[in-house]
Order: sequence, then C-alpha cells, then structure tokens
Amino acid sequence: MDGVGKVYLVGAGPGDPGLITQKGLQLLKTCDVVIYDRLASPSLLQYLKDGCKKINVGKVVGNHAVTQREINQIIVEQAKLHKHVVRLKGGDSFVFGRGGEEILTMEEHGIPYEVIPGITSAISVPTYAGIPVTHRGASQSFSVVTGHTADEEGNLPEDFKYLAKLGGTLVILMGVGNLEKITTTLLEHGRPADTPVAVVANGTTIWQEEARGTLQDICQKVKEAKIKAPAIIIVGEVAAFHFKAKEELPLSGIKVGITGTANITDKLTQQLQDMGAATDIISQSILQMYKDNAAFDEALSSIEKYQWLIFTSTNAVELCFLKWKELQLDLRKLAGLKFAVVGKGTEAALLKQGFHSDFIPSAANVTTLADELSGLVKHDEDRILIPRAEQGSEDLIKTLEKHSISFDDIKIYDIKEIDQELLPDAEQLCRYDYLTFASASGVHGLFKGMQQEQKAELKDSKIVCIGEATKQALVDYGFTNLLVAGEASASGLVQGILSSVKLEG
Ligand code: SAH
Repeated sequence: MDGVGKVYLVGAGPGDPGLITQKGLQLLKTCDVVIYDRLASPSLLQYLKDGCKKINVGKVVGNHAVTQREINQIIVEQAKLHKHVVRLKGGDSFVFGRGGEEILTMEEHGIPYEVIPGITSAISVPTYAGIPVTHRGASQSFSVVTGHTADEEGNLPEDFKYLAKLGGTLVILMGVGNLEKITTTLLEHGRPADTPVAVVANGTTIWQEEARGTLQDICQKVKEAKIKAPAIIIVGEVAAFHFKAKEELPLSGIKVGITGTANITDKLTQQLQDMGAATDIISQSILQMYKDNAAFDEALSSIEKYQWLIFTSTNAVELCFLKWKELQLDLRKLAGLKFAVVGKGTEAALLKQGFHSDFIPSAANVTTLADELSGLVKHDEDRILIPRAEQGSEDLIKTLEKHSISFDDIKIYDIKEIDQELLPDAEQLCRYDYLTFASASGVHGLFKGMQQEQKAELKDSKIVCIGEATKQALVDYGFTNLLVAGEASASGLVQGILSSVKLEG
C-alpha cells in the first residue's frame, strides 16, 4: 500500500448491537482491519467483510492486558499496512474512552483520522432501565463522572465531595467497585440518605441487571443482587423512575441464543423480540455465493434441459434467483419447470419470488423429499437440477441414485463460520433459556472446537432445531434435550420455543 491508511474511531454504542450509528456500521462493513475492545458488542463483528483482520485489544493474555501505549502502537502499525482501519470503542470514544490519546499518537505520526460519535452508556444505559437523565421538576442537569482513579488504591477522584453539593443527576461510570466509598462521601457531604440510587449492569444487553435503592441502602441491594461491573450508578430523583414498557408478552423474560445465517437470524430476532424475548446472535454463519461458477451459469442458461428443480434451503432459493437476474435470463423460460422444496420456509422463500411449489414432502428432510419425489418424476426422461450449499447432505444424492433419478448437483454457495475466538464458551451458553439451530453446519460451527467437558456442561440446555438433519448433528455431539420445530422455518422455531415455554408454565 502507498502512504498510510485512514483510521476511523468508531463509537460502538453501549452493547445492544442496534445502537451503533449508520455511519459507524457502514465503516465496519467496508474496513480492512478492526481493532476492538472488550466492551464493543462482539456480534457487531459479524458485519465485517470477508478477509477483514480482527485485532482484539480488550483481551487479557495470561495476566497481561494490552496497555494503552501498545494499543496506540498497534493503530499506527495497522494504518501503515491497511487503507481503512476501524478502531471500534465501547459507547463513545471520548467519554472515558481514551480516544484523545489515540488521536494524539496518530497526529504525531501524520495518520489521517475521523471520529464517528457513539451512543454513550452514560445516557443509554439509564434509558434502557427506564431512567431519564433529566426530567422537568426532578433534575435539570446531569453530570457524568468516574468513580475510580488510576491510583493504586483505586480511590475516588479528589473533588468527588463537591459533587454532593452539585444537585441534578449524577451518572457515575467505573464506580461499582467503589460504591461504598461513593455513597459514604455523598452522605457525608450533605446528600440526603433517601436520595434514590440505581445501579445498572450490562445495560442494553441481554444480561442487563439492576438494583434500586437509596444512598442509605443501595450497597446492600447491590450485594444481594450480586451486581458486578460493567455497571453505571445513577444518583438523584430520576433514579426512582421506571419509564419502561410494562406489557407482559408470551416470551417476556426468556433469553434466546440464536445461530445461523443472516437470513434466519434476522427473522428470528425480529419475531422473538416481538413476543418479548431477549435475543443474542451467538454464532453467525456467513454465506458466500461462488462467483465464477460456470456449471451453474450453464445450468441456468439451459434450464429447458430440466423438468424439476429442488430447493433444500431458503438461501438456495434467494441465490438462484439472484443469479438468474445477474445473467439477465427471461423468467418465462421457467414456465415448464416444476419446483420441489424441502419445507415451509423454502416454500415461502419461493413464493416470495413469485412461484408456487409443486411438491413439498410429508416430512421436512431430504431423504423423504427424494423418496416421495421419486413417485412423481419420469425416471427415463426427467432431469433434476439441485443448486445448493457446499455442505448439503449426501443423503439427498444417495436417495436419488437409489431411485435411478438423473440429476445435476451444483454447489452454489459455501457457509463459513465466525471465528472460534468470538464464540461464547459453555459457561456463557448455559445462561440462555433456549438455543436455536437452523442447520447442521451451524451446529458444527458452534461445537466442533469445543472441549468435551465444556459440551458436558451444556447437557441440560434447551435446544430447538429446525429439522431432523440438524437434530442428528446435535445428537452426534451428545445433546439430548432437543425440540424439533413443527415447521422448518424461523416461525417454526419460534413456535417451538412458545410451546415449550407454555408447557413449563
Ligand atoms: N466510552 C464508554 C465508557 C468507557 S468507561 C461509553 O461512552 O459508554 C467503561 C465504563 O462505562 C464501565 O466501567 C461502566 O461504568 C460503563 N459502561 C459501559 N458500557 C456499559 C454497559 N453496557 N452497562 C453498564 N455500564 C457500562
């Protein structure tokens, strides 16, 4: 690369991946390298382009955390190697984010940069807990302060006592370890003992927790609720508000960890959240359509050769029609073709393209599909086209061969799994009420690198899977507590969770 690249200091928001700005997300999607912290939501990294380098500077190796000086150095090195560097930081880069220090280093080295503001936890975490930082009649100002200094004892900042006299709302970051000192100092310097206080940990994420009380009793409440950092302390009249939707939905309070390609994770996230569940995408598979695929181009261009087309995934439907458009083919050429789909999800995807399915098997798996389709095809004349994933099941091919049916099996896309290091470990996975799987490859993606003892810890997790092939992959990893969706689609998975929740009452 000639010269140096540009560094974008992007605020990632407080944790909910939906709280990054459009500008920040666009830069994430196109950058060559991302340097990120522990606080930045890991699921944002699913948006990176293929081949984007990821550097985690938030991790602790042995007992060595990457120092700010080392981070500055990494930024400079990467700017010399890559055109677009994103430095992704939790919340906003300038709110206790040390963004300024990174900029000073870049200026020293003549590196061009731009700062994209982020939604700071100082305001958004209270908001998600139902606390407005100002409210007419209750608080006309808010001060954002740190509850921790860099000195050995982790003392309160020198001027903390003056904050007691300040009035308005106090929003204290990095203070939960010093809560006792904070409340004592504020009480000693005149804040009334019944001043409302809220402590919100892991705000805006699926793991948000809070404790409410007063300056007098909040330490006890935080201890009881076992609340730990990262947390925000809110002191003042507004800390007694609960401006949050109070409606009870069928999945309120249920935490679901989702896996799959964007196609399914987007739908699941939307549908589950509409029913009140809290969701996380724990492992996002990335779909890559093969670019130079002469066999596929040839098959579509001479589609008259085929009497049937089999779709075994919604991704295949979408990519097939995308290719059709790319090749500028005439849809009328499909008039004589019959479509076989594996289940309800694929049927719906095909309908979206304007075509009805001619055949859906009685059970949503490829063996039943091939067995039952065999009764419909003319064995000596008909030829079948199967555009599908690299990971597609061999059972389909074996069963068609068993029935002496002619077919062309063309691999049109590959499914790549997210980096192992971004995956949650067993301890984290155990905290979800349900895990969902929409394909056998998604199961492998999450579990193939996991140690046996870790998998054993997950033995009792409730897992909902889309169909029999996915179930089999889970059984092979030793899981037993498995629910299979009644219908092979995102809605089927949601229904599976709903009926299980109802059963448990
Ligand atoms: N630049 C960040 C703050 C970095 S300082 C921002 O603008 O939000 C780190 C502190 O921020 C944590 O110790 C905690 O006090 C607070 N914090 C950040 N994210 C948080 C979250 N999701 N929930 C609660 N506190 C959070």
